[in-house]
Amino acid sequence: MAEFFIPGQRAREALRRDIQMNTVRQGYIFEGNDGIGKKTVAREFAQMIFCSDKDKPCGKCHGCSMFKAGSHPDFFTLEQSPVKIEAVRDMNAELFVKPLISERKVFLIEHADEMNQESQNAFLKSFEEPPYYAVIILVTSSANKLLPTILSRGTRVSFTPFSQKEIEKFVCDKYSLTGARANFVARYSAGIVGRAIEICEDEEILEKRDSIINALAKLSHEKISILSVAEAMGATGRDTPTDADFYFDVFTSFFRDIAAMKAGGNIINTDYKDVIESFAANIRGSSARGVVDIASNTKSSMSANIKAKMKYDLWIINMLIKCWEEIYGTGNRS
Ligand SMILES: [Zn+2]
Repeated sequence: MAEFFIPGQRAREALRRDIQMNTVRQGYIFEGNDGIGKKTVAREFAQMIFCSDKDKPCGKCHGCSMFKAGSHPDFFTLEQSPVKIEAVRDMNAELFVKPLISERKVFLIEHADEMNQESQNAFLKSFEEPPYYAVIILVTSSANKLLPTILSRGTRVSFTPFSQKEIEKFVCDKYSLTGARANFVARYSAGIVGRAIEICEDEEILEKRDSIINALAKLSHEKISILSVAEAMGATGRDTPTDADFYFDVFTSFFRDIAAMKAGGNIINTDYKDVIESFAANIRGSSARGVVDIASNTKSSMSANIKAKMKYDLWIINMLIKCWEEIYGTGNRS
């Protein structure tokens, strides 16, 4: 049963059937959001192809052992991003070298959509007419960047997001998170298991979320109260913290929850329902939505201005001043 919660389960089932029915295709296109489990499943599929046991992947046979050790001679990966044309040419050459120990040779291209036009053209013939032993797997988060001729030649395997319930069960089982926290992770990850794992495996990140929400709870008519929010969001130096995106998400989700609560909708931060409720009592719904806009605009301006003179702490302080004015009004005490 636990197996049900392994990433990309639906895709895995389809691929397992290909193996069992002996209908493994020569060209696959794995498509789906980042973090959804495409690469994990692709590797597992490759291992099943190399496995000589009936129960695949057994993890014990020669093929499995070589694969797990990362030294299977018939497994070729292209991890580059962006993909350089030289690498594509190398792979084309490699494609025509017969497998050494297995009946098949598996090629995995991890960022297929990062092949430019030239690279895709160089690769096209290999994909259209591969040697009989080759299995080529293209992994992509945006299949629409692939040439139509490539798309039409591959079997498309779509990785769909998990339901909230599935993710919730997954984080409960694997990380023993309690109800409300598991619920938050499930809602926050939007069905993308990689995102859920990322949060669960970083112990500090959930604590950071607590600090941000607790600082927001103390936000008041005193403008200076924005400073503890700034600090909680890591605006203590000029460098952007590695988890900055997450901090923005937490900040935004808090105000989105307020707007949702006022409109009678569902909230994400269910474990902070009380805090959100009392904050919501003192803020207009339009202001909450205004704050969400200010935060999203700041986030996109920041990423569009990597070389801008302004540094992270100033971006945050500026954003918080705007938000504070949106909530408490410009004419208020300062
Ligand atoms: Zn095996």
